[in-house]
Amino acid sequence: MFEFPEPSEELVRRYDLSAPRYTSYPTAPEWRPDFGPEAYAGTLEQAGREEPAAPFSLYVHLPFCREMCTYCGCNVVVTRDSSKADEYLDHLLLEMDLASAKLGERRRLAQIHWGGGTPTFLTPVQIERLWKAITDRFSVEPGAEVAIEIDPVVTTVEQLALLRRLGFNRLSMGVQDFDPKVQQAVNRIQRAQDTATLVDQARGLGFSGVNFDLIYGLPFQTKESWGRTLERVLEIRPDRLAVYSFAYVPDMKPHQRKIDRAWLPMGMPKLGLFLQAYRSFLGAGYQAIGMDHFALPDDELSRAQRRRALGRNFQGYTVTAAKDSIAFGITGISDVMGAFAQNAHLLKAYYAAIHAGRFGTERGIETSADDRRRRQVITQLMCNFWVDLGSDAYFAKELERLRAFEKDGLLVIDGTQVELTPLGRLFVRNVASTFDAYLSKEGKDRPTFSRTV
Ligand code: SF4
Repeated sequence: MFEFPEPSEELVRRYDLSAPRYTSYPTAPEWRPDFGPEAYAGTLEQAGREEPAAPFSLYVHLPFCREMCTYCGCNVVVTRDSSKADEYLDHLLLEMDLASAKLGERRRLAQIHWGGGTPTFLTPVQIERLWKAITDRFSVEPGAEVAIEIDPVVTTVEQLALLRRLGFNRLSMGVQDFDPKVQQAVNRIQRAQDTATLVDQARGLGFSGVNFDLIYGLPFQTKESWGRTLERVLEIRPDRLAVYSFAYVPDMKPHQRKIDRAWLPMGMPKLGLFLQAYRSFLGAGYQAIGMDHFALPDDELSRAQRRRALGRNFQGYTVTAAKDSIAFGITGISDVMGAFAQNAHLLKAYYAAIHAGRFGTERGIETSADDRRRRQVITQLMCNFWVDLGSDAYFAKELERLRAFEKDGLLVIDGTQVELTPLGRLFVRNVASTFDAYLSKEGKDRPTFSRTV
């Protein structure tokens, strides 16, 4: 039987701190520009030499969108000219050549993910070209998770059929909110019926694990309008759902200035929208995966979580988390042999590096043994709401600090094992931050992270 978390206002106020989302540890503000193309090339070489048979995940970033949604937080290139993607693919292919030369014998792919931007901005010919480039260089494992993010507004059933024929088996759709007033305010008009039809078509073609991304905290969202969106979403019943908090950062994302701060639900009303979604999804039989993801109980993510075997990488929760993940394209983040490396944000810098025959790595970090140990604990908490801290007292200090969360009913400590309660799952980022050695470094400016609730 599910249990609805009912956080008190007092608890929310106390824990409404900013904390990282922990898609990586150490988190991105710790990455440095002195980890550049050469360091990344060396890491790939090591990965090929030391673990030639280990499968890895491959991510391709496709940054193009036809129009700018005013809430967008991604790094996008707005254009209607599809030949721009040809030029981009030329560079992606050269980057793959560079990587595959360094990786030597290492070829096996357990997971492929195309994200954006709008990957379905690509024409069918471009999609086939990119797919061929990947499969000419690497071999896709049987049972690999092959996923793509699609924008229901610009995706045709022909594109879906092609993707399926090539081997894609998972889809993630940006939905955000079905309310027309909200959609108008964020410049993204997307009829619920069209989305429902596309989901039907995708299922008919054999896609599984269909995911919807929703956003709470958008302009003009009210309890009532959001309730209607949630109802419609539950009628369509995707296998997975993610509900993200809208990050309003007009200073960093100038296109968000088109959104007036006065239009936004803030504070408790904003949290109320999240809790409303949380209750609706749990009430409709979904299982909470991490803090803001949900999956039907027979979805593989839910089953993996029940076995405490769920993993996570930059693309989200996964059951096939390969140890290493290699990214291509602007802003792509690779996670190889415990090091993180991120590509340049701008096309110009990325193209210049590739032309010069080197990777477009802009920043990164080599991790220490301590980093890796902390990362493991944080990942366990974020994925499986549970962790065994081990018997060597390495985290004795942190375990003591967790007592305060235990008093608030957020977790239960049993020896060295820590398990979050349903209430504690809402504050998993706060709990995980106990293990973040960088946050507590003295004399260090604390980077800005989004609020935890
Ligand atoms: S479609 Fe997605 S990536 Fe493109 S502008 Fe809109 S929100 Fe940003």
